[in-house]
Amino acid sequence: MNLRANPAFLSELQEYGDVNIEACFNCGNCTAICPLSTDETPFPRNNIRLMQLGLKERILQNTDPWLCYYCGDCSATCPREAEPAEAQMALRRWLTGQYDWTGLARRFYTSKVWELGSILVVSAFIVLMFMFFHGPVVTQQVELNTFAPIHLVHTGDWIMAGFLSFFLLSNVLRMYILIIGKVPIIHIPLSIYIREAWNLVYHAATQARFSQCDDRRPWINHILLVSGYFLMFTIIVLFLPWFQTDNLYPLYHPQRWLGYYATIVLLYGAGQALWGRIKKVQQMHRFSHLSDWIFPILLLLTTVTGILVHAFRYAGWPLATYYTYVIHLAILTPMLVLEVPFGKWAHLAYRPFAIYFQRIRERAALQQQTPSMVPAGAD
Ligand code: SF4
Ligand code: SF4
Repeated sequence: MNLRANPAFLSELQEYGDVNIEACFNCGNCTAICPLSTDETPFPRNNIRLMQLGLKERILQNTDPWLCYYCGDCSATCPREAEPAEAQMALRRWLTGQYDWTGLARRFYTSKVWELGSILVVSAFIVLMFMFFHGPVVTQQVELNTFAPIHLVHTGDWIMAGFLSFFLLSNVLRMYILIIGKVPIIHIPLSIYIREAWNLVYHAATQARFSQCDDRRPWINHILLVSGYFLMFTIIVLFLPWFQTDNLYPLYHPQRWLGYYATIVLLYGAGQALWGRIKKVQQMHRFSHLSDWIFPILLLLTTVTGILVHAFRYAGWPLATYYTYVIHLAILTPMLVLEVPFGKWAHLAYRPFAIYFQRIRERAALQQQTPSMVPAGAD
């Protein structure tokens, strides 16, 4: 492996949100205080050393940045105010840019013009699609599914889900190649991949490591937000004709209370994330990169416009319902097609995969060591 030091790497990381890691003098306080650091994975100090030396190849093979959940304890105790938590966050953004083969993630993280311009382009595309392809505009009563033919919208949802799944999964494949495929020393049998696969599902569903942080409230908020997000995504992609009807169902109908649950937790999660960043009281909210704002803003606007569509439909206001629905989709679509594979959302996929790859590597290394631990000639 070519291990070349690159002192310019710290300047590169500043574009991704690093604040002051060059001030670190490697005392190790941050690793001692971190509730998630272990002897096997002594982050953040080990990452900081790699960052300072600019050893990009080693960082690319490293899963540690994804094992940090950004509680901020390390930054609060750093004697040099080097902001190690921000350095971990910057590393995750940089890694997201490296995993993404299209180069879009790198551009979104380092250019406001690219980030905001892409959102505007996708939004404009959705508005134009509705201008040219909407159905009849019924004004006597609300007929949303006539204005926005449900089979066309549902087909569009499937195309969008296929698009973002392809890019996200191909980026995960690249992550795998960088973390495991380029490490020549270990042979990993298929049985280990299968035996450890539960880690992937378990950590994706529970974010269990996050719950080990001293303050469990961010974990609870995150779980609630993710539950609402996945519920709404599943309903939209798989059950849209059942969910988006022109009939008004009673309150006890699952269509209503599932929708209300998702709406409430999304509203709370996005609102709470933005309020925290505005107030800057908690350590994790003191520094915000543009990408930290974009996702919760889009999520909040999507939720609010969804509530308005619902309210206007119940109030019996046809034009207000149709126009707001177009705005709703013009915000929802860039949030999904840009943020999921290329933006902040991608961490929800990369974290569990990083834990999975880490376990696979550990198991394989253990299996390779075991025979050599048996003394020669012993039976
Ligand atoms: S980041 Fe701060 S606490 Fe961590 S090793 Fe450097 S100086 Fe010490
Ligand atoms: S932010 Fe929290 S989890 Fe991440 S390295 Fe610092 S102390 Fe550990």
